[in-house]
Amino acid sequence: MGRITLQGVAKSFGDVEVIPPLNLEIEDGEFVVFVGPSGCGKSTLLRLIAGLEDVTGGDIEIDGRNVSTVPPAKRGLAMVFQSYALYPHMSVRKNIAFPMRMAKMDQAEQDKRVAHAANILNLTDYLDRRPGQLSGGQRQRVAIGRAIVREPAAFLFDEPLSNLDAALRHGMRVEIGELHKSLATTMIYVTHDQIEAMTMADKIVVLRAGHIEQVGSPLELYRTPRNLFVAGFIGSPTMNLFEGPEAARHGAHTIGVRPEHLMPSATGSDGSWRGRVGLSEHLGSDTFLHVHDTGLAETITVRAGGEIDLRHGDTVYLTPEADKIHRFDAQGLRLA
Ligand code: ADP
Ligand code: MG
Repeated sequence: MGRITLQGVAKSFGDVEVIPPLNLEIEDGEFVVFVGPSGCGKSTLLRLIAGLEDVTGGDIEIDGRNVSTVPPAKRGLAMVFQSYALYPHMSVRKNIAFPMRMAKMDQAEQDKRVAHAANILNLTDYLDRRPGQLSGGQRQRVAIGRAIVREPAAFLFDEPLSNLDAALRHGMRVEIGELHKSLATTMIYVTHDQIEAMTMADKIVVLRAGHIEQVGSPLELYRTPRNLFVAGFIGSPTMNLFEGPEAARHGAHTIGVRPEHLMPSATGSDGSWRGRVGLSEHLGSDTFLHVHDTGLAETITVRAGGEIDLRHGDTVYLTPEADKIHRFDAQGLRLA
C-alpha cells in the first residue's frame, strides 16, 4: 500500500518559508509528478515526505499512519536520486542487495529479490560488474534496483534522468513508466521538465515558490490551466499569449492560444490574423513557424504540418480554433 496524505505541511529554513502550508492526497498506486521551475521547492517537498527533512508544520500520513516524526528508514519509502550514489568498489549485485544486507535479511530472500529486480531491469547479465563498467542508463537502473528490493510503499524519484543524454532520457522515461505499470506501486517523481511530467504522470502537481498552482491529470492541465503560470508552463512550444484589444474582444484581459491550435494558410478569412513568416523550423513530422508583424505579439509560434510550404518572408494568415482560446482575467486566473 502507498497512500500518502499531506495536511498543512510546511517548511521553513530559518526565517525563510520555502513551503507554505499545503495539502495533497496521493492515492495508492498513483504516479504523481511534482513539476516546477528550479528552486520552487520540489526536492524539499520530496525530502519532507522521505523524512530527510523535518516538517516545520503539518502532518504527513502514509496509509493512515502519521509519520511526521518517524525516521526515514522506518517510513517504508525508497528514494532514487539524480546522482546514482552507487558504491564503485561493489558489484552490481552487492549494490542492489545493499539495503537488505544492512537490514540483515535472510540470504536466500536477498538472492531472490536481487534476481527479481535484475530481471525486471534487464540487469541479469551485469550482476558481477562494477558500476564503472556500466553505461549511465544501466547505473540508473542499478539505483532503481536497490529501491525495488526494499519493496517500498512508494518510490520517490528526484530528477533521476537529469544526468542522462536526451536519447537515453527518453528510453529511461519509458522504462520507468513500464516499471510503474508492472509494480503498480505509488511513485512520486520530481522534475523541472514538463515533457517528463506530461508523458509519465497520472497526476501532475505544478509548484511555484512552494505553492501548489494546480493538481490534475496531464490533459486537464493542458486543456484547462487554472492560471497563466500553468498555461505557460505546460505545453511545448509554449502557449501564445495576447493582451489588449484582441483579448478584450473575447471579454478577457489575456487570451492564450497553443501553437497547435492556430491554422496557418496563405489566404485570409474572417477572424484570421495576418503576419509574416520569420524562422520556420522543419522537423519532418512538424513545422514550427515563428510569425512576426501581426500587431498582436512580437512573435506567434505556430505548429503546422510537416510538409507545409511556407518560407521566411511569406505572408501567412493564422486562424485560431474558436473553442481552443483560453481566457484569463487581470489577475491571471482562468475565466470560465
Ligand atoms: P527545487 O528542487 O524545486 O529546485 P529545492 O526544494 O531544492 O528546489 O529548494 C527550494 C528552496 O529552498 C530554494 O530557494 C533553496 O535555496 C532553499 N533550500 C533548500 N534546501 C535548503 C537548506 N538546507 N537550507 C536553506 N535553504 C534551502
Ligand atoms: Mg531539486
